[in-house]
Amino acid sequence: MDYSKESIKKEVIDQGVEFIRLEFTDMLGDTKNVELPVEEIDSVLDNEAMFDSSSISGFSDIQESDMYLVPDLDTFKVMPKEVEEDSVARFVCDIYTPDGEPFEGDPRFILKRAMQEAKDMGYTVNVGPEPEFFLFKLNEEGYPIRKMNDRAGYFDASPIDKGDKVRRDIVSVLKKFGFEMEASHHEVAKGQHEINFRFDDMLKAADNIQTFKSVVKNVATNHNYHATFMPKPIAGENGSGMHCHLSLFKDGDSEFFDPNEDDDISQTMKYFMGGILHHASGITAITNPCVNSYKRLVPGYEAPVSVAWSHSNRSCMIRVPTTRGKGTRFEVRHPDPTANPYLTLAAVVHAGLEGIRNKIDPGEPETRNLYEVADDEVPTLPTNLKEAINALKRDEILMKALGEHTSAQYIEQKEAEWKEYSLQVSKWEIDQYMNK
Ligand code: GLN
Ligand code: MG
Ligand code: MG
Ligand code: MG
Repeated sequence: MDYSKESIKKEVIDQGVEFIRLEFTDMLGDTKNVELPVEEIDSVLDNEAMFDSSSISGFSDIQESDMYLVPDLDTFKVMPKEVEEDSVARFVCDIYTPDGEPFEGDPRFILKRAMQEAKDMGYTVNVGPEPEFFLFKLNEEGYPIRKMNDRAGYFDASPIDKGDKVRRDIVSVLKKFGFEMEASHHEVAKGQHEINFRFDDMLKAADNIQTFKSVVKNVATNHNYHATFMPKPIAGENGSGMHCHLSLFKDGDSEFFDPNEDDDISQTMKYFMGGILHHASGITAITNPCVNSYKRLVPGYEAPVSVAWSHSNRSCMIRVPTTRGKGTRFEVRHPDPTANPYLTLAAVVHAGLEGIRNKIDPGEPETRNLYEVADDEVPTLPTNLKEAINALKRDEILMKALGEHTSAQYIEQKEAEWKEYSLQVSKWEIDQYMNK
């Protein structure tokens, strides 16, 4: 929807909006927000809303903490009653410094820079994300307990599947947010669910992921469940991924479809995949940002472990679905839904464009089950956060994609997270070694 300040003010009055919510995303991928009463609408639309950025993960130092929230008018939405009973309208915001410059640590700005880089080469990138999640039960105080909402599995029907009503409510609310909804279903693990929505350009796709997560959590709460996007909440069960389907267009035509090539996929698509595979280790620090992320990337649970591409082999990091024509695309399978979507898409696209520029060959498609192939035969993804961070540090393209500010902040925070984890002694270790 194309909004102007005037049309927004009219809608605010027509719909009786009482509060304006200004949203943005911190470096770690969490949505933050502040609300202003509707009387402040003029100052909001004149970009005068200020906040203390020194209290936000990965933003600025205490001595230069004032930042401005600049609402992206296209993201204006009166919030559906199911997620907000009161009369609230939201904007997704860009962050600006007091000098009127975009803040270099704003993840949305980092993604816009990647979009511009694609545009300079004549491309637009479309992204279809597939964030999976679990529903857990709540205790009397409303906090999650380690019991899933059901014992169902892939595509199971009710009454074994006890998430159907929750998923339907999520779909209805997202439609009110303007999403074009696709299929929803029970996923492989007990208590695990997936709801698909239509692809969009990179920026809208990233904004949509943030809205999606918030709606899923709020609607789950309405049903007395806790929704989590944690990558591997239950040992021995599938984890939750956030596969991202990518397609590339020039002047409205697919740059990935080429009926004259083997498999009808273009050389450009192969180079784009080549770039992503080449930078895979460093990308993983961004797409799989938690200690827990690496508990998902193990053989046997439909999550990828190998840096390779294939046609329908789900043990590879990149898979090419069979659709051709405008729908020609590939699926990057290692990201998980704790990743910051703005940084994720920025990293993946910078690497892909680098692949096109440098003609990076992705090799032949892999047909073996890589869960059963020795890891000295096919390179593997990093096996823990520390390895991934080390790879990111060595990767000039990705460090540049994040920019000086965010790369330094990100590495510092993730190294601290790894260090803290390394100091823990788990139950497994006690069970395993106590009798030594
Ligand atoms: N949950 C699996 C993962 O971790 C994906 C399963 C699927 O969508 N087929 O990536
Ligand atoms: Mg899916
Ligand atoms: Mg799935
Ligand atoms: Mg998928």
